Amino acid sequence: MSGMISRISRRPFHVYHRLFNISAGHRLVLKEALSKPIRHDWSKQELSEIYNTPLLELVYAAQLQHRKYYDPSKVQLCTLMNIKTGGCSEDCKYCSQSTSNNTGLKAEKLVSIDEVLLEAKEAKKNGSTRFCLGAAWRDMNGRKSALKRIAEMVTKVNDLGLETCVTLGMLNDEHAKQLKAAGLTAYNHNIDTSREHYKNVITSRSYDDRLKTIRVVKDSGISVCTGGILGLGETKEDHIGFLYSLSNMMPHPESVPINRLVPIKGTRIVDELEKPGANKLEFEDILRVIATARIAMPNSIVRLAAGRYTMKEYEQFLCFMAGCNSIFTGKKMLTTFCNGWNEDKAMLLKWGLEPMKAFKKYNLPGN
Ligand code: SF4
Repeated sequence: MSGMISRISRRPFHVYHRLFNISAGHRLVLKEALSKPIRHDWSKQELSEIYNTPLLELVYAAQLQHRKYYDPSKVQLCTLMNIKTGGCSEDCKYCSQSTSNNTGLKAEKLVSIDEVLLEAKEAKKNGSTRFCLGAAWRDMNGRKSALKRIAEMVTKVNDLGLETCVTLGMLNDEHAKQLKAAGLTAYNHNIDTSREHYKNVITSRSYDDRLKTIRVVKDSGISVCTGGILGLGETKEDHIGFLYSLSNMMPHPESVPINRLVPIKGTRIVDELEKPGANKLEFEDILRVIATARIAMPNSIVRLAAGRYTMKEYEQFLCFMAGCNSIFTGKKMLTTFCNGWNEDKAMLLKWGLEPMKAFKKYNLPGN
C-alpha cells in the first residue's frame, strides 16, 4: 500500500491539471493546495474557490490530497459514550441535553468507571480504536471529584489500548493538566459553525470562549478535536467561514468531526428550520465541506459523526471519496441513533476498507 501511496502522490497536481478543464481561479488555488506544504493562512476567497469547484473535480482533488497523507483504505472507528446525560445550562438551540430546550430528556448523574470500562471493552472488541466520553456540562468549574473520576476513566480506557477523547465543556489550564496527566489523547470542543452564524445558534457562551478552551487544550499538549454541525440554518458562506476558522488553526486540529444535524423534537432549532425561507442543507454541501477540509487540512482525521445514520450507504461512500477517514459507530451518538458495528463492518468490507489501528497514522510529519 505504501508503494501505491507514493506512486499516486508523486505529481498529484500534474495529473489533476491534465485531466480536468476547470476555471483559472479553481485551478490556481487547487494547484497551491496540492503542491505546497501544509498551510495555516487560508483566505476565505481561497477556501471559497475550493468549496465551489465543480463537484466531480473537487472530490477528485480531495482524493489526491487524501492519498498523499493517508492510506485511503483505512477508516478509524470511534465510539462515543454519554457519561453524563442532560441538564446542561448552555443554550445550544440544537441540543436535546440543554435545559433551554424542551425535549423531556431527564438529567442523569455521572456514570461509574465500571460502566465506562464495560462499554469501552465492547467497543474495542468490535474494532473501535478511539473511545470518546461526553458529558453535558457548561464547564468543569466546581467539579473536582467528577474530574478526578473522569481522569481515572481515561487512564483505564487507555490501558485497554484505545485512544481516548473527552468532551466536558469549557476547561481551564488546571483541568487540562489533570486530563493530560491521566493520558488523555484528545479533547473535543466544537466550534459548531462559522463565527458569523454562531450567535444565531448559541448565546450562553461566545465563539471566542470556544477558541479559548481550544487554546488551553492545545497548550496542555492534548490533541484538539474540533468541528461542527451542518444543517443549523447556515449558508454556504458559513461553511466557508467554518472551514476558515479550522484551517487557520496552528496546528490544524488533529481531528475534525463533521456532524449532520439530527433535528430533535422540542429543540428550538427545529421551529426555526421550519420557517419559510430557512436555509436547508443539501447532501452536496456535506461533500463540499468534507472535501474542502481534506484539501485545506490534509493531515487531520476527518470524522463523519452524528447524523450519519440518516445517510444512504452510497452517500457515506461518497464522503469517503471526498476524504473522510473516520466514522462514529456503536450503539448511540449521545442521544441520537448511530449505525451499529456489524452494519459498519459489513459496509467497510464491501468497499475494501479496513478499520485503522489506534495511534497509527500514515501521514507526513508536521501538522
Ligand atoms: S454544551 Fe453540549 S451538552 Fe450542553 S447544550 Fe451545548 S451541545 Fe448540549
